[in-house]
Amino acid sequence: MPAETHLLLSLKDNYGVLLHDPESGATASIDAPEAAPIEAALRTTDWRLTDILVTHHHADHTGGIAALKEKYKCRVVAPAKEAAKIPAVDQTVREGDTVKVGKLSGNVIETPGHTLGHIAYWFHADKLAFVGDTLFSIGCGRVIEGTPEMMWASLKKLRDLPNDTEIYCGHEYTAANIRFARTIEPDNPVLAAREAQVSRLIAEGEPTIPVTIGDEKLANPFLRADLPELAGNMTMDGEPAAKIFAEIRARKNKF
Ligand SMILES: [Zn+2]
Repeated sequence: MPAETHLLLSLKDNYGVLLHDPESGATASIDAPEAAPIEAALRTTDWRLTDILVTHHHADHTGGIAALKEKYKCRVVAPAKEAAKIPAVDQTVREGDTVKVGKLSGNVIETPGHTLGHIAYWFHADKLAFVGDTLFSIGCGRVIEGTPEMMWASLKKLRDLPNDTEIYCGHEYTAANIRFARTIEPDNPVLAAREAQVSRLIAEGEPTIPVTIGDEKLANPFLRADLPELAGNMTMDGEPAAKIFAEIRARKNKF
């Protein structure tokens, strides 16, 4: 049976998402910004929390773990490289490891850059990827602990997922990301169409995610740093992609 998901907003602009296996009844929370909105979502869906899959150690992704663990006795899965900074971890995982949520099966993809141990969870049979703060719709996370080269390599790994993979990210930053992306690719028609779509969604109070990796590849400048037309727009023709990525990220930091 295919996986079911339930998206929820938490803190100011964090997304939480529940991943549910209807066959076994298992339910995972991808990260846990705070406990109360996740408990409310569990009541709404009538799902039982069995697992928390953590992408990275930041407090706005882990603040709810201790309370949820106490209440539901759920398993906490976390990246091996930063498990020491995450509360109540039961199982640590690395690149290529498999994580089960009931009968659902996910692969761990290491995506360092935002933090050094950041991971994504890819449930390939269900065409779902949970990417934390590495990739946002039309944006990417700040490079806080790693280097731009590291972040660019991580984004390329996510870009290589099948085009119909649905991406769930950690924050609702899409509208601001589009305003910035238009300064990098003002003539990109796919980006213009996405801007119109996102304005409509936000006006209706709807989330702008999930998005497919195929759609992101056509409009997210951080996934397009190796395209000649983008280098041309930035007057950086012939420069290495990692350097162009670093420049886009630097401009976004000041935007
Ligand atoms: Zn973060």
